Amino acid sequence: MPGSRARTPGRYDSLQLIPWWQQADVAKARIMVVGAGALGNEILKNLALLGIGHIFIIDFDDIEASNLTRSVLFRDGDIGHHKAEIAAGRLKDINPDIKVAFMHGNTCTDIGLGIVKHMDVVIAAVDNFAARIFINRACFKVGTPWINGGIIELMGEAHVYIPGKGACYECNLPPDAYRDITRRFSCQMPQAEKEAGHVPTTPTIASIIGAVQVQEALKILHHRKVEGGSGLVFNGMNNRFMEVQFTFNPACYVHDPLKAVRRLDRSVTDTSFRDLLDIAGKEPGPDIAVELDFNIVTNLSCLCGYSDGHVKRFDRLNNADLTCPRCQKMLRTDITSIVDRSSASLLDCTLGEAGVPPWHIVTVKQGSEKTSYEFCADKKRVLNYI
Ligand SMILES: [Zn+2]
Ligand SMILES: [Zn+2]
Repeated sequence: MPGSRARTPGRYDSLQLIPWWQQADVAKARIMVVGAGALGNEILKNLALLGIGHIFIIDFDDIEASNLTRSVLFRDGDIGHHKAEIAAGRLKDINPDIKVAFMHGNTCTDIGLGIVKHMDVVIAAVDNFAARIFINRACFKVGTPWINGGIIELMGEAHVYIPGKGACYECNLPPDAYRDITRRFSCQMPQAEKEAGHVPTTPTIASIIGAVQVQEALKILHHRKVEGGSGLVFNGMNNRFMEVQFTFNPACYVHDPLKAVRRLDRSVTDTSFRDLLDIAGKEPGPDIAVELDFNIVTNLSCLCGYSDGHVKRFDRLNNADLTCPRCQKMLRTDITSIVDRSSASLLDCTLGEAGVPPWHIVTVKQGSEKTSYEFCADKKRVLNYI
Protein backbone atom coordinates (compact mmCIF):
# COMPACT_ATOMS: atom_id res chain seq x y z
CA MET A 1 0.00 0.00 0.00
CA PRO A 2 1.42 3.43 -0.86
CA GLY A 3 3.06 5.16 2.10
CA SER A 4 2.89 2.16 4.45
CA ARG A 5 6.03 0.14 4.09
CA ALA A 6 6.57 -2.67 6.53
CA ARG A 7 10.02 -2.18 8.08
CA THR A 8 12.13 -5.26 8.58
CA PRO A 9 12.42 -5.73 12.37
CA GLY A 10 15.98 -5.42 13.64
CA ARG A 11 17.51 -4.55 10.26
CA TYR A 12 18.78 -1.14 11.37
CA ASP A 13 19.73 -2.03 14.95
CA SER A 14 23.50 -1.68 14.58
CA LEU A 15 23.25 1.59 12.62
CA GLN A 16 21.18 3.00 15.45
CA LEU A 17 23.99 2.34 17.91
CA ILE A 18 25.72 5.36 16.33
CA PRO A 19 24.82 8.10 18.84
CA TRP A 20 23.67 10.71 16.30
CA TRP A 21 21.96 8.25 13.92
CA GLN A 22 18.29 8.91 13.13
CA GLN A 23 16.91 6.00 11.13
CA ALA A 24 13.51 7.73 10.86
CA ASP A 25 15.19 10.65 9.06
CA VAL A 26 17.13 8.25 6.84
CA ALA A 27 13.85 6.51 5.95
CA LYS A 28 12.27 9.88 5.06
CA ALA A 29 15.27 11.01 2.99
CA ARG A 30 15.10 11.66 -0.76
CA ILE A 31 18.28 11.23 -2.76
CA MET A 32 18.77 11.42 -6.51
CA VAL A 33 21.71 9.57 -8.04
CA VAL A 34 22.76 10.75 -11.49
CA GLY A 35 24.54 7.95 -13.32
CA ALA A 36 24.36 4.21 -12.66
CA GLY A 37 27.83 3.24 -13.86
CA ALA A 38 30.70 1.96 -11.71
CA LEU A 39 30.48 4.80 -9.19
CA GLY A 40 26.68 4.96 -9.32
CA ASN A 41 26.43 1.24 -8.51
CA GLU A 42 28.50 1.68 -5.36
CA ILE A 43 26.55 4.75 -4.27
CA LEU A 44 23.19 3.09 -4.89
CA LYS A 45 24.19 -0.11 -3.11
CA ASN A 46 25.18 1.89 -0.02
CA LEU A 47 21.99 3.98 -0.06
CA ALA A 48 19.87 0.83 -0.21
CA LEU A 49 21.81 -0.91 2.59
CA LEU A 50 21.36 2.14 4.81
CA GLY A 51 17.61 2.28 4.18
CA ILE A 52 17.51 5.67 2.41
CA GLY A 53 13.75 5.80 1.96
CA HIS A 54 13.39 7.40 -1.47
CA ILE A 55 15.98 6.92 -4.18
CA PHE A 56 15.68 8.35 -7.70
CA ILE A 57 18.06 7.04 -10.37
CA ILE A 58 18.69 8.62 -13.76
CA ASP A 59 20.93 7.10 -16.43
CA PHE A 60 20.65 6.99 -20.24
CA ASP A 61 22.86 3.97 -20.85
CA ASP A 62 22.36 0.25 -21.42
CA ILE A 63 24.35 -2.45 -19.63
CA GLU A 64 27.38 -3.81 -21.52
CA ALA A 65 29.65 -6.76 -20.71
CA SER A 66 32.46 -4.39 -19.66
CA ASN A 67 30.24 -3.01 -16.87
CA LEU A 68 30.16 -6.39 -15.13
CA THR A 69 33.63 -6.08 -13.56
CA ARG A 70 32.66 -2.86 -11.77
CA SER A 71 28.95 -2.95 -11.12
CA VAL A 72 27.70 -4.93 -8.15
CA LEU A 73 24.07 -4.48 -9.20
CA PHE A 74 24.37 -5.96 -12.71
CA ARG A 75 24.41 -9.60 -13.92
CA ASP A 76 25.24 -11.35 -17.22
CA GLY A 77 21.58 -11.62 -18.12
CA ASP A 78 21.14 -7.84 -17.78
CA ILE A 79 23.29 -7.01 -20.83
CA GLY A 80 21.33 -4.79 -23.22
CA HIS A 81 18.87 -3.62 -20.55
CA HIS A 82 18.65 -0.06 -19.20
CA LYS A 83 21.04 0.54 -16.30
CA ALA A 84 18.58 2.72 -14.36
CA GLU A 85 15.77 0.15 -14.46
CA ILE A 86 17.93 -2.86 -13.55
CA ALA A 87 19.64 -0.93 -10.74
CA ALA A 88 16.25 0.10 -9.33
CA GLY A 89 15.04 -3.50 -9.22
CA ARG A 90 18.24 -4.73 -7.54
CA LEU A 91 18.00 -2.05 -4.84
CA LYS A 92 14.55 -3.35 -3.95
CA ASP A 93 16.07 -6.85 -3.64
CA ILE A 94 18.75 -5.49 -1.30
CA ASN A 95 16.24 -3.64 0.83
CA PRO A 96 12.46 -4.03 0.34
CA ASP A 97 11.84 -1.23 2.87
CA ILE A 98 12.88 1.49 0.43
CA LYS A 99 11.13 3.16 -2.50
CA VAL A 100 13.06 3.47 -5.75
CA ALA A 101 12.14 5.40 -8.89
CA PHE A 102 14.15 5.57 -12.07
CA MET A 103 14.39 7.41 -15.37
CA HIS A 104 16.08 6.11 -18.50
CA GLY A 105 17.09 9.53 -19.78
CA ASN A 106 19.70 12.16 -20.44
CA THR A 107 20.93 14.22 -17.50
CA CYS A 108 21.10 17.52 -19.35
CA THR A 109 17.73 17.42 -21.11
CA ASP A 110 15.37 15.15 -19.17
CA ILE A 111 15.62 16.21 -15.53
CA GLY A 112 12.97 18.71 -14.50
CA LEU A 113 14.04 21.23 -11.87
CA GLY A 114 11.08 20.18 -9.71
CA ILE A 115 12.76 16.78 -9.20
CA VAL A 116 15.98 18.44 -8.07
CA LYS A 117 14.08 20.76 -5.71
CA HIS A 118 12.23 17.77 -4.20
CA MET A 119 15.52 16.04 -3.23
CA ASP A 120 17.45 16.39 0.04
CA VAL A 121 20.72 15.64 -1.74
CA VAL A 122 21.81 14.93 -5.31
CA ILE A 123 24.76 12.58 -5.76
CA ALA A 124 26.53 12.74 -9.11
CA ALA A 125 28.27 9.73 -10.62
CA VAL A 126 28.88 11.10 -14.10
CA ASP A 127 32.06 11.35 -16.11
CA ASN A 128 31.86 14.63 -18.00
CA PHE A 129 31.85 18.39 -17.48
CA ALA A 130 28.53 18.97 -19.25
CA ALA A 131 26.53 16.79 -16.88
CA ARG A 132 28.31 18.17 -13.80
CA ILE A 133 27.69 21.75 -14.90
CA PHE A 134 24.03 20.95 -15.49
CA ILE A 135 23.71 19.39 -12.02
CA ASN A 136 25.56 22.29 -10.39
CA ARG A 137 23.33 24.93 -11.99
CA ALA A 138 20.14 22.97 -11.28
CA CYS A 139 21.05 22.43 -7.61
CA PHE A 140 22.06 26.05 -7.03
CA LYS A 141 18.84 27.29 -8.67
CA VAL A 142 16.64 25.33 -6.24
CA GLY A 143 18.92 25.11 -3.17
CA THR A 144 19.70 21.38 -3.10
CA PRO A 145 23.16 20.25 -1.89
CA TRP A 146 25.04 18.00 -4.31
CA ILE A 147 28.02 15.70 -4.05
CA ASN A 148 30.29 15.26 -7.01
CA GLY A 149 32.48 12.22 -7.57
CA GLY A 150 35.05 11.28 -10.15
CA ILE A 151 37.29 8.26 -10.65
CA ILE A 152 40.07 7.28 -13.01
CA GLU A 153 42.39 4.27 -12.65
CA LEU A 154 43.24 4.18 -8.91
CA MET A 155 42.53 7.85 -8.27
CA GLY A 156 39.37 9.57 -7.28
CA GLU A 157 37.80 12.63 -5.75
CA ALA A 158 34.61 13.58 -3.97
CA HIS A 159 33.38 17.17 -3.52
CA VAL A 160 30.44 18.66 -1.63
CA TYR A 161 28.61 21.77 -2.84
CA ILE A 162 25.94 23.43 -0.71
CA PRO A 163 23.98 26.39 -2.14
CA GLY A 164 24.55 29.45 0.04
CA LYS A 165 27.56 27.88 1.77
CA GLY A 166 30.84 28.24 -0.08
CA ALA A 167 32.02 27.69 -3.62
CA CYS A 168 30.06 25.94 -6.34
CA TYR A 169 31.48 23.58 -8.96
CA GLU A 170 31.82 26.39 -11.49
CA CYS A 171 33.53 28.93 -9.21
CA ASN A 172 36.94 27.59 -10.21
CA LEU A 173 36.22 25.71 -13.41
CA PRO A 174 38.95 26.26 -16.04
CA PRO A 175 37.93 27.66 -19.46
CA ASP A 176 38.90 24.34 -21.07
CA ALA A 177 35.87 22.75 -19.44
CA TYR A 178 33.58 25.20 -21.21
CA ARG A 179 35.23 24.51 -24.56
CA ASP A 180 34.47 20.87 -23.92
CA ILE A 181 30.80 21.50 -23.13
CA THR A 182 30.31 23.92 -26.02
CA ARG A 183 31.29 21.05 -28.24
CA ARG A 184 29.00 18.68 -26.41
CA PHE A 185 26.01 20.99 -26.23
CA SER A 186 26.27 21.78 -29.90
CA CYS A 187 26.36 18.20 -31.08
CA GLN A 188 24.96 14.89 -30.06
CA MET A 189 25.19 14.90 -26.29
CA PRO A 190 24.07 11.33 -25.57
CA GLN A 191 26.54 9.98 -28.10
CA ALA A 192 29.34 12.19 -26.79
CA GLU A 193 28.61 11.11 -23.22
CA LYS A 194 28.59 7.51 -24.32
CA GLU A 195 32.00 7.82 -25.97
CA ALA A 196 33.38 9.42 -22.83
CA GLY A 197 31.88 6.59 -20.78
CA HIS A 198 34.74 4.15 -21.13
CA VAL A 199 36.91 5.58 -18.40
CA PRO A 200 39.57 3.17 -17.05
CA THR A 201 38.38 2.41 -13.52
CA THR A 202 38.25 -0.41 -11.02
CA PRO A 203 35.48 -1.45 -8.63
CA THR A 204 37.90 -0.72 -5.78
CA ILE A 205 38.26 3.00 -6.45
CA ALA A 206 34.53 3.19 -7.23
CA SER A 207 33.87 1.67 -3.77
CA ILE A 208 36.14 4.14 -2.01
CA ILE A 209 34.83 7.30 -3.69
CA GLY A 210 31.19 6.17 -3.78
CA ALA A 211 31.41 5.46 -0.06
CA VAL A 212 32.83 8.93 0.68
CA GLN A 213 30.01 10.51 -1.34
CA VAL A 214 27.34 8.56 0.56
CA GLN A 215 28.95 9.38 3.91
CA GLU A 216 28.89 13.07 3.07
CA ALA A 217 25.20 12.72 2.15
CA LEU A 218 24.51 10.99 5.48
CA LYS A 219 26.19 13.84 7.35
CA ILE A 220 24.07 16.39 5.47
CA LEU A 221 20.89 14.40 6.27
CA HIS A 222 21.85 14.34 9.96
CA HIS A 223 22.80 18.04 10.02
CA ARG A 224 26.39 17.17 10.91
CA LYS A 225 29.14 19.61 9.97
CA VAL A 226 29.87 19.49 6.23
CA GLU A 227 31.87 22.19 4.47
CA GLY A 228 30.30 23.44 1.22
CA GLY A 229 32.86 23.80 -1.56
CA SER A 230 35.19 21.24 -0.01
CA GLY A 231 36.54 17.96 -1.24
CA LEU A 232 38.76 14.99 -0.82
CA VAL A 233 41.24 13.68 -3.39
CA PHE A 234 42.57 10.16 -3.04
CA ASN A 235 45.58 8.78 -4.89
CA GLY A 236 45.39 5.01 -4.58
CA MET A 237 48.90 4.51 -5.99
CA ASN A 238 50.52 6.03 -2.89
CA ASN A 239 47.51 5.96 -0.54
CA ARG A 240 47.51 9.71 -0.03
CA PHE A 241 44.33 11.57 0.84
CA MET A 242 44.32 15.31 0.25
CA GLU A 243 41.69 17.70 1.52
CA VAL A 244 40.74 20.54 -0.79
CA GLN A 245 38.81 23.73 -0.13
CA PHE A 246 37.53 25.54 -3.22
CA THR A 247 37.66 29.32 -3.29
CA PHE A 248 34.30 31.08 -3.49
CA ASN A 249 34.20 33.24 -6.62
CA PRO A 250 31.90 36.24 -6.04
CA ALA A 251 31.76 36.87 -9.82
CA CYS A 252 30.38 33.36 -10.52
CA TYR A 253 26.85 33.85 -11.84
CA VAL A 254 25.60 30.40 -10.78
CA HIS A 255 24.74 31.49 -7.21
CA ASP A 256 21.40 32.97 -8.20
CA PRO A 257 18.52 30.93 -6.81
CA LEU A 258 15.10 30.99 -8.44
CA LYS A 259 12.88 33.38 -6.58
CA ALA A 260 9.10 33.19 -6.30
CA VAL A 261 8.43 29.61 -7.40
CA ARG A 262 4.69 29.00 -7.75
CA ARG A 263 3.27 25.51 -7.79
CA LEU A 264 0.93 24.76 -10.68
CA ASP A 265 -1.29 21.68 -10.70
CA ARG A 266 -0.56 21.20 -14.40
CA SER A 267 1.63 19.08 -16.63
CA VAL A 268 4.07 20.29 -19.28
CA THR A 269 2.18 18.02 -21.68
CA ASP A 270 -1.18 19.78 -21.25
CA THR A 271 0.01 23.39 -21.02
CA SER A 272 0.79 25.47 -24.09
CA PHE A 273 2.98 28.56 -24.05
CA ARG A 274 -0.21 30.58 -24.53
CA ASP A 275 -1.75 28.90 -21.45
CA LEU A 276 1.33 29.72 -19.36
CA LEU A 277 1.40 33.35 -20.53
CA ASP A 278 -2.32 33.60 -19.66
CA ILE A 279 -1.70 32.10 -16.19
CA ALA A 280 1.24 34.44 -15.55
CA GLY A 281 -0.10 37.65 -17.05
CA LYS A 282 -2.63 39.59 -15.02
CA GLU A 283 -2.87 42.16 -17.79
CA PRO A 284 -1.98 40.49 -21.10
CA GLY A 285 0.77 42.66 -22.55
CA PRO A 286 3.54 42.37 -25.09
CA ASP A 287 6.29 42.51 -22.47
CA ILE A 288 5.44 39.14 -20.92
CA ALA A 289 7.62 36.24 -22.06
CA VAL A 290 8.52 32.66 -21.15
CA GLU A 291 12.29 32.39 -20.68
CA LEU A 292 13.43 28.83 -21.29
CA ASP A 293 16.71 27.50 -19.92
CA PHE A 294 17.55 25.84 -23.24
CA ASN A 295 17.26 26.68 -26.95
CA ILE A 296 14.46 25.54 -29.21
CA VAL A 297 14.74 25.24 -32.95
CA THR A 298 11.67 26.73 -34.62
CA ASN A 299 12.75 26.03 -38.19
CA LEU A 300 15.40 24.08 -40.08
CA SER A 301 16.04 25.22 -43.64
CA CYS A 302 18.45 24.80 -46.52
CA LEU A 303 19.45 26.82 -49.61
CA CYS A 304 18.15 23.93 -51.72
CA GLY A 305 14.62 24.81 -50.58
CA TYR A 306 14.21 22.15 -47.88
CA SER A 307 12.40 23.37 -44.76
CA ASP A 308 11.17 21.71 -41.56
CA GLY A 309 9.05 23.80 -39.20
CA HIS A 310 8.62 21.21 -36.42
CA VAL A 311 9.64 22.59 -33.04
CA LYS A 312 12.60 20.75 -31.48
CA ARG A 313 14.91 21.13 -28.53
CA PHE A 314 18.33 22.10 -29.92
CA ASP A 315 20.45 20.05 -27.53
CA ARG A 316 18.55 16.89 -28.47
CA LEU A 317 19.59 17.17 -32.12
CA ASN A 318 22.55 15.27 -33.48
CA ASN A 319 24.66 15.89 -36.56
CA ALA A 320 22.34 13.82 -38.76
CA ASP A 321 19.34 15.94 -37.65
CA LEU A 322 21.25 19.07 -38.69
CA THR A 323 22.13 17.73 -42.15
CA CYS A 324 19.85 18.44 -45.12
CA PRO A 325 18.20 15.16 -46.15
CA ARG A 326 18.06 16.38 -49.77
CA CYS A 327 21.54 17.81 -50.45
CA GLN A 328 23.52 16.75 -47.33
CA LYS A 329 24.60 20.34 -46.54
CA MET A 330 24.44 21.75 -43.00
CA LEU A 331 20.94 23.09 -42.26
CA ARG A 332 20.28 26.66 -41.15
CA THR A 333 18.66 26.71 -37.71
CA ASP A 334 16.29 29.35 -36.34
CA ILE A 335 16.76 29.26 -32.58
CA THR A 336 15.12 30.96 -29.62
CA SER A 337 14.78 30.54 -25.87
CA ILE A 338 12.18 33.29 -25.43
CA VAL A 339 8.49 32.78 -26.21
CA ASP A 340 6.11 35.73 -26.12
CA ARG A 341 2.74 36.51 -27.68
CA SER A 342 4.41 37.33 -31.00
CA SER A 343 5.92 33.83 -31.28
CA ALA A 344 3.22 32.66 -33.67
CA SER A 345 4.60 29.21 -34.45
CA LEU A 346 5.20 28.38 -30.79
CA LEU A 347 2.25 29.80 -28.85
CA ASP A 348 -0.01 26.78 -29.21
CA CYS A 349 2.76 24.26 -28.83
CA THR A 350 2.78 22.53 -25.44
CA LEU A 351 5.85 22.97 -23.26
CA GLY A 352 6.43 19.22 -23.50
CA GLU A 353 6.41 19.36 -27.31
CA ALA A 354 9.09 22.07 -27.13
CA GLY A 355 11.27 19.79 -24.99
CA VAL A 356 10.50 21.06 -21.48
CA PRO A 357 11.03 17.99 -19.27
CA PRO A 358 8.25 16.79 -16.96
CA TRP A 359 8.03 18.44 -13.50
CA HIS A 360 10.19 21.33 -14.71
CA ILE A 361 10.17 24.84 -13.27
CA VAL A 362 9.67 27.41 -16.02
CA THR A 363 10.36 31.13 -15.63
CA VAL A 364 8.11 33.89 -16.97
CA LYS A 365 9.44 37.43 -17.18
CA GLN A 366 7.12 40.43 -17.03
CA GLY A 367 8.90 43.76 -17.08
CA SER A 368 11.67 43.40 -14.52
CA GLU A 369 9.75 40.76 -12.49
CA LYS A 370 10.45 37.07 -12.83
CA THR A 371 8.11 34.34 -11.58
CA SER A 372 8.78 30.64 -11.91
CA TYR A 373 6.12 27.94 -12.26
CA GLU A 374 6.58 24.37 -11.11
CA PHE A 375 4.58 21.80 -13.12
CA CYS A 376 3.58 19.67 -10.15
CA ALA A 377 1.05 17.46 -11.97
CA ASP A 378 4.03 15.60 -13.52
CA LYS A 379 5.35 14.51 -10.12
CA LYS A 380 3.51 11.17 -9.98
CA ARG A 381 4.64 10.27 -13.51
CA VAL A 382 8.29 11.04 -12.71
CA LEU A 383 8.39 9.41 -9.27
CA ASN A 384 7.24 6.02 -10.55
CA TYR A 385 8.25 4.29 -7.32
CA ILE A 386 8.65 0.55 -7.37
ZN1 LIG B 1 30.13 29.44 -8.25
ZN1 LIG C 1 19.54 21.06 -48.85
